[in-house]
Amino acid sequence: MHLRRRRPVPLRRPGLVVLSLLTLVATAVSCAESRGGAPPPEPSAPKTTGGRQDSPSALPEHPARPKSPASVHADELGSVPVLMYHQVVKDPRGPYDREPAEFRAELERLAREGYVPVTAAAYSTGKIDIPAGRHPVVLTFDDSTDGQFALGKDGRPDPDCAIGILLDVARKHPGFAPAATLFVNGDAFPATGTKKALRWLHAHGFEIGNHTLDHANLRDVPAGRAQHQIAAGQQLITKSAPGAKVSSMALPFGVQPNPAELDIKGAADGVRYAYDGAYLVGAGPAPSPYAAAFDPVGIPRIRSAGPHDKDAQFGSAHWLDELRSGAVKRYTSDGDPDRVSYPESASARPAKEFRERARPY
Ligand SMILES: [Zn+2]
Repeated sequence: MHLRRRRPVPLRRPGLVVLSLLTLVATAVSCAESRGGAPPPEPSAPKTTGGRQDSPSALPEHPARPKSPASVHADELGSVPVLMYHQVVKDPRGPYDREPAEFRAELERLAREGYVPVTAAAYSTGKIDIPAGRHPVVLTFDDSTDGQFALGKDGRPDPDCAIGILLDVARKHPGFAPAATLFVNGDAFPATGTKKALRWLHAHGFEIGNHTLDHANLRDVPAGRAQHQIAAGQQLITKSAPGAKVSSMALPFGVQPNPAELDIKGAADGVRYAYDGAYLVGAGPAPSPYAAAFDPVGIPRIRSAGPHDKDAQFGSAHWLDELRSGAVKRYTSDGDPDRVSYPESASARPAKEFRERARPY
């Protein structure tokens, strides 16, 4: 049994203001770039994901029964990296693009370091069911480009597209689940065709999230127009892939509508939407979904980037180092989805609705 679904908590404006500023600074070129704006300068240094070479044998085993939380240093109030990808292409044009080899190297680093991918929906609802000692990571993709997902003539994912690479890495690393959330716009995955692509993704367990119909800046339009963009984006998904439930949305440019709560709840044109999480563009690890600091209206993400890329302090190589070293407390599972275990010394506090399941040790 899973923990019960998280209800939205009140917006914490001061934190979001800071985050929004970081977001604006860090992402001025993000989606604009990938949707046809001027490309930013190329990073000058060689890119690697860096990091210690952990051997798989150093990781905890998959126990039939959960071990004691202390024995695996469980901390389910620790932070979760929600990684954000845009284009995965052989000729990157800016800091939001990654080469297929860089993408593969980052997934292999995550597998070595004991991460298990979960979808954005699983994260935001607290349905994180992974083995004891492992860490959740959320892989998210914005803008529904062909480099993220394309089907070949044989009906299988192109081995060089992001989903093809993810499936291959998961095959080679048992326990590294091929879970991901793809935030799509209208005309998603044009090389394959929207309907065909979304049906395949849904049928194979990938989460399809909403990125609005036209990649609209939701702050620049009236509230009704913002809701129309979200509702129409949702309708595109549910009509293309019958049975798909839309639970998550990514804010174009990381910009929230006004009021911000419209990003997870609203209606337009006879279509209602109610989401478990809306995702920003920057700029650091996200709180545990069980922590009081969790806010579904604006969930931070980390841009995939090497240690020498532009604005590396907002990037994944930097934040994965911080999480590994303990400079930022990392979510470590106790292996039991019904308990929320954490050391008594943890500074994060459990959210009210999870307190009865909290197991400090
Ligand atoms: Zn975008």
